[in-house]
Amino acid sequence: MHRILIAEDEPRIASFLEKGLRAHGLTTAVAADGNQVILMVQTGEFDLLILDLGLPGRDGLEILEELRGQGERLPIIILTARDDIKDKIAGLESGADDYITKPFRFEELLARVRARLRNITVSTVTHDTVITVGNLVLDLRTRRIKVGDRTIDLPAREFTLAETFFRHPGQVLSREQLLDRVWGFDYNPGSNIVDVYVGYLRKKLGSELIETVRGMGYRLVVD
Ligand code: CA
Repeated sequence: MHRILIAEDEPRIASFLEKGLRAHGLTTAVAADGNQVILMVQTGEFDLLILDLGLPGRDGLEILEELRGQGERLPIIILTARDDIKDKIAGLESGADDYITKPFRFEELLARVRARLRNITVSTVTHDTVITVGNLVLDLRTRRIKVGDRTIDLPAREFTLAETFFRHPGQVLSREQLLDRVWGFDYNPGSNIVDVYVGYLRKKLGSELIETVRGMGYRLVVD
């Protein structure tokens, strides 16, 4: 079982990460202080470090430099609220393997953690800004959907749900997959929220667009 060290001083985020990673079979520990992070890494008990850049005691970039300076090769993923490109470059130059910017989707973080544990690279978020399926165009930049010449604004969750379907056209997605991708791990598996939101999308985008596959889930219909 892989052991993940979470260096994060904000209890709410640390506990969100712990719950999520544990729900996916990983073991976790939290360090809320920069000096403690270094000591814990030095125990050699961890397989990966998720490192918040803004930590008390020692700044994340200093931690990186110190650990890499000691020859520490542990995979490190930077987690930061600073979406300043300079910090990202500095982080990668200091030897981080990857970074993720807050706010983030748990699914994305998990994908990056798993990729690092398998020692592969996930290409940074695609540069595509539109996904086209039939006569529908989903614009990731403006977060709008065009149906023919009609433009539809969707609230955040509906857009994320639509995006999930658009990224898997023609593929059956189960309620569990949709819940996990759109609502994160923190849901009640018995809830009918997916069905309710699929209903919203059908109303706005056309009732034939999303097909119910009995006993399995839903599918975005591709002509
Ligand atoms: Ca912080």
